[in-house]
Formats: sequence, C-alpha cells, structure tokens
Amino acid sequence: MTDAVPSPHLPDGLSPETLVVAAGRPAPGPDVPVNPPVVLSSTFHAGGPVGYARTSNPTWEAFEEVLGTLEGGRALSFASGMGAVSAVLDLVPTGGVVALSAHTYSGTAARLRDLEAAGRAQVRLVQIDDADAVAAACEGASVLWIETPTNPALELCDLSAAAEAARAHGVLTVCDNTFATPLLQRPLEHGLDIVMHSATKAIAGHSDVLMGAVVTRDDALYGRLLRVRTLVGAIPGPFEAWLALRGMRTLGLRLKQAQASALELATRLEGHPAVSRVRYPGLPGDPGHALAARQMDGFGSIVSFETVGTADDVDAMCDAARLVLHATSLGGVETSWERRRRWIEERPDIPETLIRLSVGIEDVEDLWTDIAQALDRLV
Ligand SMILES: *Cc1c(COP(=O)(O)O)cnc(C)c1O
Repeated sequence: MTDAVPSPHLPDGLSPETLVVAAGRPAPGPDVPVNPPVVLSSTFHAGGPVGYARTSNPTWEAFEEVLGTLEGGRALSFASGMGAVSAVLDLVPTGGVVALSAHTYSGTAARLRDLEAAGRAQVRLVQIDDADAVAAACEGASVLWIETPTNPALELCDLSAAAEAARAHGVLTVCDNTFATPLLQRPLEHGLDIVMHSATKAIAGHSDVLMGAVVTRDDALYGRLLRVRTLVGAIPGPFEAWLALRGMRTLGLRLKQAQASALELATRLEGHPAVSRVRYPGLPGDPGHALAARQMDGFGSIVSFETVGTADDVDAMCDAARLVLHATSLGGVETSWERRRRWIEERPDIPETLIRLSVGIEDVEDLWTDIAQALDRLV
C-alpha cells in the first residue's frame, strides 16, 4: 500500500511542479533504479498486505503516490476514467439522488442515465456555475458530481461554496478534475470528498494510454473505493501505469506551453470573422474568468468555440486542418479538435457548431496558420 508519508527522503515544502517530477521514485540507495520498475506479476509471495495483483501492484503505487501527493490525498488507479467514474457511482445507495453538473463528460452522463433507467439512482441536473442552484440541488441528494471547467462548455463551479452547501446536507462531493489537473486545481483543498481523473488526458499526456484514478483524504472512503476496485476488477495494467507516470513527469512543462498557446489562440479566434463565440476561462470577458483566477493556478489548455455555418460545414472545416488532428479526446502533446455534437451522447443544448480545441505543445504560430486556413473556408 502507499506510504502514509510518501517519498520521506524528499525535503519539505516542494512545489507541485517539483513533486510531479520527484515523487513516486524508489528510496535512494546504491544501484537502486531511479524509476519504478514495471512489475509484471499476478501474485506475490505470502505474508504481505497485497498478496494478489488485483489488489495492488508496485507500478500503480508509484503513479498513485505522485497523484495523491499532488492532490493532497491517497490515490487509487483504475483501468480508465470511466472505470474510476463507475467505482465512485458504486457508492450511491440504491435510489439515491445524484446532483449532476448539467454539462458533464458525456460518458459520465450516459452511465448515470443507464443507472436511472435501471432504477438504481435518480439524476438531478444542476447548472454548476450557479451557486444557489448547486445549494438547492443538494437538498435530499446523496452525491454532488461536479465538473469544473465543464466538458465542453467550460463553465466554472465555485468549489468551496459547493463543498459548504453539500456538507450542510450530508452530501458526498466528487469533482472530475480531468480538465484542470492537480497542477491547476486541487478540489480536496476546497473541502471536496473525492477527486476523479481520466489520466488518459493531460496527466498521461501523449494519447497512448487509457487510465483513470480517484483520490480522497478520507480513510473510510479510500477503503470502500479500494474494495470496489478489487472486487469489480477495473484495474490498469502495470505497463499502462508506467506509461502514465512517465507522461506525468512533464505535466508542468506541457501545461505551461499549452496554456500560453491556448490563451493566444482563444484571443485570435475571438477576432476571426467565422467565429461567433469563444469560451475560455483565461479570456477577461469569459463568465468564469474571475472565479478561475481565484480558484485555479492557470486556465488550462482547452478552448471551445462556435462558428458560422452548418454542422456539415464545421465537420469539413475540422477535416481541412493539416496539422491540428481531427480526433476526439484531449490533453495530448498534439493539438486536436472536433465538433462535439457529432457524438450522439453529447447533450442537445451544446450548440451544433461548438468545436472543442485541445491545445498541445506545438509552435503557436504553426497552429494559428493551420486553424486560420481551415476557418477561412467558412467565410
Ligand atoms: C475522457 C474523460 C472521461 C473518461 O475517461 P476515459 O479515460 O476515456 O475512460 C471522464 N471525464 C472527463 C472530463 C473526460 O474528459
């Protein structure tokens, strides 16, 4: 199991950008490897707390140590973000009300719709950027499921206010922190109970692995989630955990570059005649800007924007990019975009032409040249 005091050989007071590099390594010693090995073993010699590799694995533990250290809790890794989502939803009592951010990752919303159809849970959609609506939705709820910034509308939720309202009603709080990553936002510090991640995205960062995680500082919750993971079995392979950890080492640098480019591209998009609306919390005119400046350590690498033209025009425009990848997913080193409503699971109140742009680490002028030549086709 993860040490209560991770990486005890490290000095105190290190910044998150340092910890993401330094934590989760074997304790120093002559000829000890500097990286955790990929441990390929389904079983372990008897006498220890793990015993069998559906419970834990040393390669996952290294990944969990880094993520837990950054979020300020204890982490558990899962086979995918949806594996982590499902483990948390397993905690909802039968018939319990889940107050759900109206704009949420489409897979989370779809899973909850299925649970509702089966009589397993009730869903109550809440406009997550409206603190009064969040407080009202907590009444009688079992779980408050937050995304901030939301996917793909990029609305901001006031985490401290939401945690306070939920506490007053005894509601378990969860934040899907995939868009922000723990370098930009740490929901446990705002009083939330559980943080959930699709590590597939910016944490792993190279579009080559699926993985998920949950983090909590509550020992009882940790124990329940560990039990769900062990018995449901949505566990990552050791090599996936190693890839995610290797990718995470450069998260600080990748985010710095991607965020700077995202702000530049968002600003230029606002000035393009084919663009009707740009959503990015880093823009001074964005409705979430003041809260993001207070609650986050950066504005992230995702920009959403709407254009003139039809859905078909926009799909053709996305195809016309030569550098930007026309592909789903986000958080990779490669810039990608897609029209979100091309997915049947996306909510109907997301505008037909809304494009979600995931900004990578390429040269920003190369990116703008490519985006502008594609956009020019719409006018
Ligand atoms: C991708 C994503 C998920 C699901 O994660 P997978 O790793 O694809 O299973 C959950 N939440 C958000 C915000 C996501 O972007």
